[in-house]
Amino acid sequence: EVDWFSLASILFLLMFAPLIVYYFIMSCDQYQCSLIDPVIDLLTGNKYLSDIWNKTPTLTYRAAGIYTLWVAFQVVLYVCIPDFCHKFLPGYVGGVQEGAVTPAGVVNKYEINGLQAWIVTHVLWFANAYYFHCFSPTIIFDNWIPLLWCANILGYAVSTFAMIKGYFFPTNAKDCKFTGNFFYDYMMGIEFNPRIGKWFDFKLFFNGRPGIVAWTLINLSYAAKQQELYGQVTNSMILVNVLQGIYVLDFFWNEAWYLKTIDICHDHFGWYLGWGDCVWLPYLYTLQGLYLVYHPVQLGTANAIGILMLGLIGYYIFRMTNHQKDLFRRTNGNCKIWGKKPEYIECSYMSVDGTKFHSKLMTSGFWGWARHFNYTGDLMGSLAYCLTCGFDHILPYFYIVYMTILLTHRCIRDEHRCFSKYGKDWKRYTSAVPYRLIPGIF
Ligand code: NDP
Repeated sequence: EVDWFSLASILFLLMFAPLIVYYFIMSCDQYQCSLIDPVIDLLTGNKYLSDIWNKTPTLTYRAAGIYTLWVAFQVVLYVCIPDFCHKFLPGYVGGVQEGAVTPAGVVNKYEINGLQAWIVTHVLWFANAYYFHCFSPTIIFDNWIPLLWCANILGYAVSTFAMIKGYFFPTNAKDCKFTGNFFYDYMMGIEFNPRIGKWFDFKLFFNGRPGIVAWTLINLSYAAKQQELYGQVTNSMILVNVLQGIYVLDFFWNEAWYLKTIDICHDHFGWYLGWGDCVWLPYLYTLQGLYLVYHPVQLGTANAIGILMLGLIGYYIFRMTNHQKDLFRRTNGNCKIWGKKPEYIECSYMSVDGTKFHSKLMTSGFWGWARHFNYTGDLMGSLAYCLTCGFDHILPYFYIVYMTILLTHRCIRDEHRCFSKYGKDWKRYTSAVPYRLIPGIF
């Protein structure tokens, strides 16, 4: 059932999310990243909407060419080159891996080769920047708005295709979800794991590439632009590149583990993931780097070290919390967490066909401090990115505001799902671990 609040939120996002992205990027392009000046200009009659729109770069053949090549290249890396990194990188889990059991009882196989795609792409990027000089390393920044139109076209095309596919030729009909509400189905998706052929998995591809592989390239392009404009790269830009680079590399190093996260395990593939991965993520997760092109902030040493520490500690908490759950679940509790055998709550649940399954909810380690301490670490890292930009403008702080809303909402959504799944066992768990994100507070 779709309640009125969900429907209103969905309609709001479908109408306004593309405008929000445009507004942020336009305000950097035309107003030096001020979010307030465009509003003042419009309210005072200094400018009309048409003036702003007329100054906005349009779709160009060059951008369309770059974007098509980019996506095609990532498709080739994903589909045609089986993973070889797991053969020589100790501890890395790549190659063919199994996902979680779907509600219809299917276990999908995935070719995990994201790290390889990331490495190949970045080696080529650096080879071009320092040796071949086929294109400028500022190419992404220089075509940023025309590329936005291309990303939107792909985002809408893939979401619409996924909807049609869900109705007419689903990969697994039993894993489809129809609410009867067109907007909800379009936004939240019908098919659980849409695929083309045996291996092209929409969720794995769009979730990680082209958006997340591009994330570090986009930041590199911003750093190159700073170098071009000011003859140097500021320490704030280096911090953004390093901290976000760690996050991106962590994602690809743990791509097999991501098969067990909410995006892949529970969400259906619709506009939320399709458009979000193509447009929202590459454009709004990289706002700090974009801002620093217009406002090159040079941080004092103490501030730079403080921000670096916040980012690294946040990353450590994020990674260790996720690692503890992964280890616990993989070994069925036969492991050590902080040197001791973990404590847990035994629970059971039913799949749609009525089969009873057993599971465990850990109450040791970071999972005993709060029910989503991994999100807390993520939020500390997110705050560190924003702080690199100083306090002159609010635009770079969009990320921490957004992540706080996203992860708090996700926390509540996940707990609602877990309660439906585990019932009274979930209640026992929430009594044992009463806080969600910050022990003693929330
Ligand atoms: P989690 O990794 O926290 O997974 C939640 C699931 O874990 C629950 O549904 C439940 O699943 C299981 N679980 C919950 N509590 C316990 C417990 N105590 N012991 C064992 N298992 C438990 O959530 P996500 O998948 O959302 O997040 C993964 C990571 O990705 C997070 O670190 C998050 O910060 C990050 N992330 C980043 C985003 C970004 O845009 N940058 C967006 C979203 C996430 P089950 O049904 O198996 O019991």
